[in-house]
Parts: sequence; structure tokens; C-alpha cells
Amino acid sequence: MFCPFCSAQETKVIDSRLVAGGEQIRRRRQCLECTERYTTFEIAELVMPKVIKRDETREPFDEDKLVAGLTRALEKRPVSTESIHQTIAKIKSSLRAVGEREVKSEFIGELIMSALKELDKVAYVRFASVYRSFEDVKEFGEEIAKLSDDV
Ligand SMILES: [Zn+2]
Repeated sequence: MFCPFCSAQETKVIDSRLVAGGEQIRRRRQCLECTERYTTFEIAELVMPKVIKRDETREPFDEDKLVAGLTRALEKRPVSTESIHQTIAKIKSSLRAVGEREVKSEFIGELIMSALKELDKVAYVRFASVYRSFEDVKEFGEEIAKLSDDV
């Protein structure tokens, strides 16, 4: 980019570091013409796939919904806000990694479940019981039994 002071084109990067938990790069630049220094931030342009709902309609990926679902499942659980943020970031990067323009809502549900499984077993069962509406009571019982094995 042009120097904001003198509009010269030639600038050099004098420092680069990751900020915002690695989601941004902050660069200190110096203009080779006027020697003024300034900072730029780089953020990846993140394109989330659209979500195919069960009724085959499409809607934009809604991070608020994801956050709300996780927060509900993790209510009163001993899980830090930091871990929740990391989980959300992980789910989003898995979704982008698929490289599809559209993903099924079930797929997102599965991602959330496997993330919760690692994060907090109780939250996992809470989420799964609502989301997947377990096929039958037996399956739900099996999940609960798995929990007591793990804990
Ligand atoms: Zn300049």
C-alpha cells in the first residue's frame, strides 16, 4: 500500500507479529521515501460455507447461533470463556477446511458434538440430546454409560 504520509510506494516491513490469538498479523512498516512509520493489520478473509438445513433451504452461516448453542450446553459448567472461544474457532476452521460452498447443518452438529466431547462430557450429552434427539432411549443410555466410564 502507499505510504499514508507521502503516498510513496516503497515501504519496508520492520516488524511482523501475530495478534488477536494468531488471527491477525500486525506489521510495522517504514516508508523508504519519508521514513515515517505506520502499522498495518492483515486479517484473512474468511468465507464460511452456507448451511443446508434439514428442509433443504440454505442460510448463511450464523456464528451467533453456534455461540448460543455452545453457551446453552455449557451453562454452569467449569469451562473457561477462553476454551469456548477456542472451540468456536476450531469449529469454524474445520468448516472452512471442508472447502465446500455449502455444508449440511447435520455436519455442523457433528463438529460441535465432537468438540464438546473433548471439552466437557456433560455439555456434550446436553447438546447431543437436544440436537440429535437420540434415536431411542437406549442410545441415550449408552451415551450416559460411556460418560461414567470416562469420568
Ligand atoms: Zn512516506
